[in-house]
Amino acid sequence: TEACLAAIEAAGVLGAVVHKTPEIALERARAADARLAAGEAPSMCGIPVGIKDLFCTEGVASQAGSKILEGFLPPYESTVSGQLKDAGAVMLGKLNMDEFAMGSSNETSVYGNAVNPWRAGNSEAALTPGGSSGGSAAAVAADLCLAATGTDTGGSIRQPAALTGIVGLKPTYGRCSRWGIIAFASSLDQAGPMTKTVRDAAIMGAVMMGHDPKDSTSADLPVPDFEAMLTGDIRGKVIGIPREYRMDGMPQEIETLWSEGAEMLRDAGAKLRDISLPHTKYALPAYYVIAPAEASSNLARYDGVRYGYRAPLSQGDGVTEMYEKTRAEGFGPEVRRRVMVGTYVLSAGFYDAYYNRARKVRALIKRDFEEVFDAGIDAILTPATPSAAFELGREISDPVEMYLNDVFTVTVNLAGLPGIAVPTGLDRQGLPLGLQLIGRPWEEGDLLNTAYALE
Ligand code: GLN
Repeated sequence: TEACLAAIEAAGVLGAVVHKTPEIALERARAADARLAAGEAPSMCGIPVGIKDLFCTEGVASQAGSKILEGFLPPYESTVSGQLKDAGAVMLGKLNMDEFAMGSSNETSVYGNAVNPWRAGNSEAALTPGGSSGGSAAAVAADLCLAATGTDTGGSIRQPAALTGIVGLKPTYGRCSRWGIIAFASSLDQAGPMTKTVRDAAIMGAVMMGHDPKDSTSADLPVPDFEAMLTGDIRGKVIGIPREYRMDGMPQEIETLWSEGAEMLRDAGAKLRDISLPHTKYALPAYYVIAPAEASSNLARYDGVRYGYRAPLSQGDGVTEMYEKTRAEGFGPEVRRRVMVGTYVLSAGFYDAYYNRARKVRALIKRDFEEVFDAGIDAILTPATPSAAFELGREISDPVEMYLNDVFTVTVNLAGLPGIAVPTGLDRQGLPLGLQLIGRPWEEGDLLNTAYALE
């Protein structure tokens, strides 16, 4: 814990840790020592971790990367961060992220962006760590903590993990409680571990998962001992290679990495099958209707009354002016864009044309996956991202270009499936690239074991 706290002080320029909690960390580290001395050894006892700013942590600033939650100190702990605490994990601080988890580069954060600890060749240019869990990815990759929590609505665990050379697991929707995690799009949001290795993801993932009566979508299913399932034996497993993920303009290096990953799984005894997920091309547009729709509803609660920031008012301003000024000043441009898009697609005249249609497309995407799993596919191998880490400042002015970063990850959220990003190589500039494995619902153990064979 002391070494991590020192590393955080030394790495200020990375912008990964936005609220430091050294007193809490040292107190928990001492408590962990006492538990170990008493012969108790919960699975994360004394392990220093960072917590994404989206998780409510009792008495500790939890701003979701937004000005509108300035000064908000939650009186409660999210279920997931509470489970980590109970398992002995030591919270070092809160980690940077895109505002309300909307973004793929960490650049929509009110704190300013986090920086990727990797550099391209000899270049000085600062690169994005990805987003929205960019601070988590940067912190783990730069050894500021041993692991971090992330959340993934459309790729926010897997994409930053891939761009920083770490492992990121998005569990099946319903595996981790959403209680106390600031909501973005409730039917898609899912927490998960961001770690250096697949084994760490197995250990931390098991702690983060589990039934919680406080979240009605949380699954009442036992959480297996994932670590014990890491045998590396994948003989007889059938891995699907979906042809729709072969995109025009995708860098050759990613194609190569993908084939090499497939070969590696075959060498380990798996069988490869070409598969088709025909509705893949509609995933991104459907996601960018559904996610903003849910966000516009979830974010309605930030009104200047209940949490955080309230805009200064002028004489004569009433409650409407307070709402308007608070929301105009408190939300950044990407969040305002999503609220406007979401409100529009839910409005009476357009609901059927956009929101309902997107929901139908979502059902078709889910069915594509069900069909391949029914046909005997155990896991699906795809690239995690369409490119390596890009320069900060390059895509932020073009929302559509930014949205394309999620092209390989959003399908998994729409279908509610588990997905994992595994670092598998470097591009010719020396930047990390990752592959994604997609698994059957609730079979994170199998998925982790396949990822273990790929690592
Ligand atoms: N980049 C996607 C978005 O901006 C996904 C974000 C996420 O998974 N939280 O919506």
